[in-house]
Amino acid sequence: MNHLELIDVLYKYGKNEKQVLPTKEALAFLIRKLCAEFQSGKERPGVSYLQKLAQETAVSCFGTGIYLRGLIEFTNYCRNNCYYCGIRCGNEKLKRYRLTPEEILSCCDKGRKLGFQTFVLQGGEDMHYSDAEIADLIGKIKDRYPDSAVTLSFGERNYSVYKQWFDAGADRYLLRHETASKTHYEKLHPPDMSYENRIDCLFNLKEIGYQTGSGFMVGSPYQTEYDLAEDLIFLSALKPHMIGIGPFLPHKDTPFRNKASGTLEQTLIMLGLLRIIFPSVLLPATTALASLTENGREQGILFGANVVMPNLSPVSVREHYMLYDGKAFIKDEAAEGKAMLEIRLEKIGYHLAEGRGDYREVLPGKEKN
Ligand code: SAM
Repeated sequence: MNHLELIDVLYKYGKNEKQVLPTKEALAFLIRKLCAEFQSGKERPGVSYLQKLAQETAVSCFGTGIYLRGLIEFTNYCRNNCYYCGIRCGNEKLKRYRLTPEEILSCCDKGRKLGFQTFVLQGGEDMHYSDAEIADLIGKIKDRYPDSAVTLSFGERNYSVYKQWFDAGADRYLLRHETASKTHYEKLHPPDMSYENRIDCLFNLKEIGYQTGSGFMVGSPYQTEYDLAEDLIFLSALKPHMIGIGPFLPHKDTPFRNKASGTLEQTLIMLGLLRIIFPSVLLPATTALASLTENGREQGILFGANVVMPNLSPVSVREHYMLYDGKAFIKDEAAEGKAMLEIRLEKIGYHLAEGRGDYREVLPGKEKN
């Protein structure tokens, strides 16, 4: 089978046409072939075909509306020491901060005035906040804004804590698996972090009833096309509601300071493949993609992304939530960020969608917003 035929197989798989997912070897071949074509600067029939199908699939499922999430980076303390991450506990140069519950609520107030209906609370694994304090905060946000969605993203916890937060009103949880290959996982994380635990967390989140997001970095150190193929296979078993991917970008105060960044081309190809394999999935054009290149978000949307997550954190702390060097939008006030987004989306024929933007199962061609 050539690469165009393989793209057709994935497209049929996404449309539920009794198609099985190709093997890991075939998927790795496809990723390698598409990247080589993209980077050759010559004719690129495979990339153009993938982009066309990915864009058509996204527009057919969601229209040209892009969902908006307000990101609140509420703490950069972290108990983990991931080799790639700027807020790892071993980074002694980082100025640490944590927002109080009142400060977090005032970020939500600011977001709400601008029309945000999803608040994403993201942070390092900071054990300073008790489980009950977090539950209380979730309850307060939901009391104040009952028609909003609360998304959590603070890493690995046990089943009962996830359940406590879900019962307090949290709707969604983002926890990237980072890489589906155990051998690769162990090259990115110190020995006290467990691949199995991360994967168990994801299945627990789904079982509890969260709209669950997973994902991975593209071009992380030591990653091969086989690892990326394994990511696709893993995601087809997990069936998450959201998939967050973005390029790996090095941070100067981490062990991976000298490693190469993930590429724009490979990230766009993975976005396109994810869109056709999982048509209904909520797929953000991430800040890392926007940090890699000036119009990264727009390019992501043109390869099938349908979510953007502007920053609602106070500008005074933005520069300290530095996962990698060169993070975009650290000086933009939330309102400026949103206004700029609207203009940029309009230029490519898209607009910001209203509402919470929950996950819905839609098959391309069958339903539209
Ligand atoms: N602590 C939570 C967790 O582990 O899921 C959420 C915060 S964590 C910093 C959010 C995500 O940032 C990670 O899942 C990882 O994929 C991404 N990230 C961290 N360092 C990065 C880097 N150097 N380049 C690109 N993405 C990075």
